[in-house]
Amino acid sequence: MAARPMPYLDELNPAQREAVEALDGPVLMLAGAGTGKTKALTARIVHLLSTARAAPNEILAVTFTNKAAKEMKARVGRMLGEHVEGMPWLGTFHAICVKLLRRHAELVGLKSSFTILDTDDQIRLMKQLIRANNIDEKRWPARQLAGIIDNWKNRAWTPQNVPSAESAAFNNRGTELYDQYQRRLLELNAVDFGDLLLHVVTIFQKHEDVLAQYQRWFRYILVDEYQDTNVAQYLWLRLLAGGHRNICCVGDDDQSIYGWRGAEVGNILRFEKDFPGAKVVRLEQNYRSTEHILAAAGGVIRGNEGRLGKELWTEAGEGWKVRLIGHWDGEEEARWIGEKIEDHQSGRSEEAKNRYNPRLNSFQQELDRRAKSGLGPVDEHQYVRDAFESGSVYSDMKTFNLVKQLLDRDKYSARYGNMLGALGDYVVHRFSLDEIAILVRASHQMRAFEDRFLTIGLPYRVIGGPRFYERLEIRDAMAYFRLVVSPADDLAFERIVNTPKRGLGDKAQQKIQVCARDNGVPLVEGARILLAEGGIGGKGAGELRALIDNLDRWGRMTGHADLSHVELAEQVLDESGYTAMWQNDKTPEAPGRLENLKELVKALENFDNLQGFLEHVSLIMDNASEDQGAKVSIMTLHAAKGLEFPAVFLPGWEDGLFPSQRSMDESGPKGLEEERRLAYVGITRAEEVCTISFAGNRRVFGQWQSQIPSRFIDELPGEHVEVLTPPGLYGGGFGAAAPGYDGIQSTVDKRASEANVYNSPGWKRMQARAGQRPMSQPRETRSQVIDLEAVSRYTIGDRVFHQKFGYGAITGIEGDKLDIDFEKAGTKKVVAKFVMAGDD
Ligand code: ATP
Ligand code: MG
Repeated sequence: MAARPMPYLDELNPAQREAVEALDGPVLMLAGAGTGKTKALTARIVHLLSTARAAPNEILAVTFTNKAAKEMKARVGRMLGEHVEGMPWLGTFHAICVKLLRRHAELVGLKSSFTILDTDDQIRLMKQLIRANNIDEKRWPARQLAGIIDNWKNRAWTPQNVPSAESAAFNNRGTELYDQYQRRLLELNAVDFGDLLLHVVTIFQKHEDVLAQYQRWFRYILVDEYQDTNVAQYLWLRLLAGGHRNICCVGDDDQSIYGWRGAEVGNILRFEKDFPGAKVVRLEQNYRSTEHILAAAGGVIRGNEGRLGKELWTEAGEGWKVRLIGHWDGEEEARWIGEKIEDHQSGRSEEAKNRYNPRLNSFQQELDRRAKSGLGPVDEHQYVRDAFESGSVYSDMKTFNLVKQLLDRDKYSARYGNMLGALGDYVVHRFSLDEIAILVRASHQMRAFEDRFLTIGLPYRVIGGPRFYERLEIRDAMAYFRLVVSPADDLAFERIVNTPKRGLGDKAQQKIQVCARDNGVPLVEGARILLAEGGIGGKGAGELRALIDNLDRWGRMTGHADLSHVELAEQVLDESGYTAMWQNDKTPEAPGRLENLKELVKALENFDNLQGFLEHVSLIMDNASEDQGAKVSIMTLHAAKGLEFPAVFLPGWEDGLFPSQRSMDESGPKGLEEERRLAYVGITRAEEVCTISFAGNRRVFGQWQSQIPSRFIDELPGEHVEVLTPPGLYGGGFGAAAPGYDGIQSTVDKRASEANVYNSPGWKRMQARAGQRPMSQPRETRSQVIDLEAVSRYTIGDRVFHQKFGYGAITGIEGDKLDIDFEKAGTKKVVAKFVMAGDD
């Protein structure tokens, strides 16, 4: 066969090429974010095909998401042009396993037409089993069992080989129920998600001939995001690659963020042991982000222990510092981000330009002076002048960088360095909406953005999950609200009549339907008639009666002067038993659902009544109809893995939100380290502009709670961060946490962590800024009281204890602050009242 051109190789650096061209034997590409792992993996597929080393169906490539698979397919197609017919097996573990399992279903007792259950079906089935076993459903809910079984499946444990150490699970009945559940699935000719892998692994383990067939068939195996594989996936790969060992895995231990779902970062660290003689390729050049962004991300991830430790560099120039901004509350954060996105649309920020105009003028005068006195080549200075006059320096990254280079070289920067630094915070270039992403830690954060963007007419899409108002728990809650406002809403009634469970199964619901239809009335009236006629018996009758009475009563309460619609909504969710349903739910998703419900109630506060709110939401849902125009992307940090955007917003960097409360409550560092990797993933998605924000206050169930900026903000290296001051009403960015601005509320238990705020570099910079510029009055002002009593307890040399920094000795006292030399944390200045005498 004639040699084909290989232009895709020219796009790679030497290390990438090495990984692409080493076609035989195991290869591990272990490298940081944006270093071109996915690109190299894609090129490797193309290389295999265009050198005719493998036919398309001899290649197996695994990606982490369907979206990633789609993109990789498209890229391979483009790079190959028309050269090769057919496509490799390219998809997620699950997608590939479905195909394999259909071919060999009979080996695990299934028919090839098996159905794949969704989570709801799965839970329903488990409920039946729990009941059949006379287990108290309330104490031992199906969702908990589902969590346990999923976890076991992730570890590739069949009912027969669940280790005895797990025997206490689910009140000692876990293994037994798992066995029953698997049998029941076989009877139904069904599998759940976890089975897809488990069954295939089982087949491979038990049927050497089948395994051998696929080992021969898939001659080349490629895996992206290897750091997030779980044990079952790992076994699957090891079995398949066992013969030829032509496996190429790429990943980054710093981006392992699915530990909570059973992923084992150990898999990647163990690769060289599993595949002795593996070629390990490390990539260090990052092609995605500018220097400041990389350095900021690097600074954060350095806080983790036991890393392989990789340093990244870039040729992209220093670019703009990571921007940090604090807001009064979450709504203001959403408003501000909305405005910044609009600035990105118009290409410049007027407000900022005005602020810096005087300095620009003096800069131009300086240019004039130099031009007149013949200093330096005039045409370059002319270029710089033009750049400023035309405004292109504000709106075009290339011009900006070139101007900056010229100025640096001419040593203008010593005198104008400040101004250039400041340029970064207001040179806003034109990004299309597709180039902008908002990455949140928790899905409930999306609500504020969705509402705001709808209000200002900014198109957005939610990636990797339903939009806020499409979520199960939100739709349920909305159904209750709809019934309160209009009892004749049959769809809403159907949705909630047996949610939470009221003993009104399919039969009872059918009776209600028939009765309503026969009488030509809405379902709720049909139910009333049926009850009056005694057409429903047992437990269901009492519960249905209670529901109807409740609906009547809530309906009368709308528009009541003494009860706001927000309070009413809370009552509805409580009295209907809906909130309790999720409180009793022990699955990992339950806390998130409760958060979403709280967030829903919060959203109500922006409206005058329930009716107005419902209209607003129906508008949002209408807006959901997909058109193809450019849109801002909103997604969770987890869903953003592998993606990149020129402009990234990272809102909600507050302790308890990010890092999550759960990770902070854990005793070991494991949870926090995973959160820190998430922070690293978040920052490294940004190509040019990365904006981190936090709110001083968030409202939780109608109660203001003051928030503490995330500990990860403290960890951002100061020299790569630009602190912005919001132009808004309240001036100070730290909201309630700032002394003198801590108006609303600061709860006693938050005090300890406030000490950290005062010591954070972010706070110090913010204070310095506040000194330079007049700030408008906050809503309430309280002068800072120095707690002298706390100070006078100590003298220099005392041994003390601090919650975050541990033990240390006092080396200085100044006002209410103590200088302390901590044994572990080094020298810090902390507020005296947050320190305890440490002479244990
Ligand atoms: P992540 O860890 O976030 O998944 P990655 O290592 O997979 O990142 P890629 O997404 O493959 O990185 O590449 C990041 C960006 O750099 C992409 O825009 C890609 O096109 C570009 N890139 C990769 N390698 C090169 C190269 N050798 N020359 C120019 N651009 C490159
Ligand atoms: Mg990648």
